[in-house]
Amino acid sequence: MIPFNKPFLTGKEAHYIYQAVYAGKLSGNGEFTKKCHDFFESRYGFKKAILTTSGSDALEMAAILCNINPGDEVIVPSYTFVSSALAFVRERAKIVFADSCDDNPNIDPDKIESLITDKTKVIVVVHYAGVSCDMDKIMDIAHRHGLFVVEDAAQAIDSFYKGRPLGSIGDFGCVSFHETKNVTAGGEGGLLIVNDEQYIRRAEIIWEKGTNRAEFFRGMVNKYGWVDTGSSFLPSEINAAFLYAQLESLTEIQNRRRDIWNAYNNGLKDLALEGFVKLPNIPSYATNNAHMFYMTCRSLEERTELIAFLKENGVLAVFHYLSLHLSEFYKRHNNIIPNLSNCDRFADTLIRLPLFYELKNEEVEYVINAIRDFYEKKH
Ligand SMILES: *Cc1c(COP(=O)(O)O)cnc(C)c1O
Repeated sequence: MIPFNKPFLTGKEAHYIYQAVYAGKLSGNGEFTKKCHDFFESRYGFKKAILTTSGSDALEMAAILCNINPGDEVIVPSYTFVSSALAFVRERAKIVFADSCDDNPNIDPDKIESLITDKTKVIVVVHYAGVSCDMDKIMDIAHRHGLFVVEDAAQAIDSFYKGRPLGSIGDFGCVSFHETKNVTAGGEGGLLIVNDEQYIRRAEIIWEKGTNRAEFFRGMVNKYGWVDTGSSFLPSEINAAFLYAQLESLTEIQNRRRDIWNAYNNGLKDLALEGFVKLPNIPSYATNNAHMFYMTCRSLEERTELIAFLKENGVLAVFHYLSLHLSEFYKRHNNIIPNLSNCDRFADTLIRLPLFYELKNEEVEYVINAIRDFYEKKH
């Protein structure tokens, strides 16, 4: 069976974990955490990078930093992972779901403005598959209405919008290092990117359980205590050491993933020309970090058949999000359910193919041929 995903090990992870263990300091904000922060700040020019225990936790920190009052409204695309919305629900916000573009699962910027009310406080964007949303349009709307923008860049490490790294454009960026992402912090991990200097101090306090411990260790205050809300959002040095090993190989990882992505895209072009499937649309303002290779089928039925056919042939391909506006949780808390047809269409027809560093060229060929065989019978 060709699996859908397999976490890649560079070979240095255990070595760095060993170093962390014998350095005798395992809790958060140690040497490896600082190395990771430096990596992100120097490679991408992030104003402030803060490692977190997960992408979901980075989103929770961003939600706290937006200073939500109960009843404030947050606009979130419905085609996303639960955490993009849940982080704000926990701060007592009301979620207003937005639809995807016609030709791309990202939030449709032309449908945002009609959702804004005098209660709106935040726009959350999700760079699906690591491909940027239309950020100039979105930032313009946010500036005109005085709104925060939180980038859920969980899938978007090392990807860019008009040359700017994703996560660095809105007020806050949130990245995930879950084992299914391009690089992992040993299974779970994340990063909060703070782009506005005025929020850095509070972000560090929220990170360290509501205390000003980070300032204490920098010698800025002579004792530390409870000053704000927060939680234990910082990962252990073991996770930071794991992540650092992966970051050292980031370029190599990205290059291999992109080769696999291009092989799929070239190998499936004919089927797209014949109208059987649609391949991903990468807008000219966006880069492709090869986080995932997806395509869309003509119907839910055909997708279900294709997934079953591939499974019979030893390939694990999977669908993705279910529309959040149709979820059990959202329906329980909201009487009015919006009609978001593009989102529903992606929920019904999108399929993701195996893509991981160690996937061999022959295996990619095999998956492409299996998909061709499936559609051969449809002629
Ligand atoms: C993976 C992911 C998350 C959650 O990240 P975790 O590290 O698993 O908490 C949030 N949003 C999106 C779009 C994701 O893909």
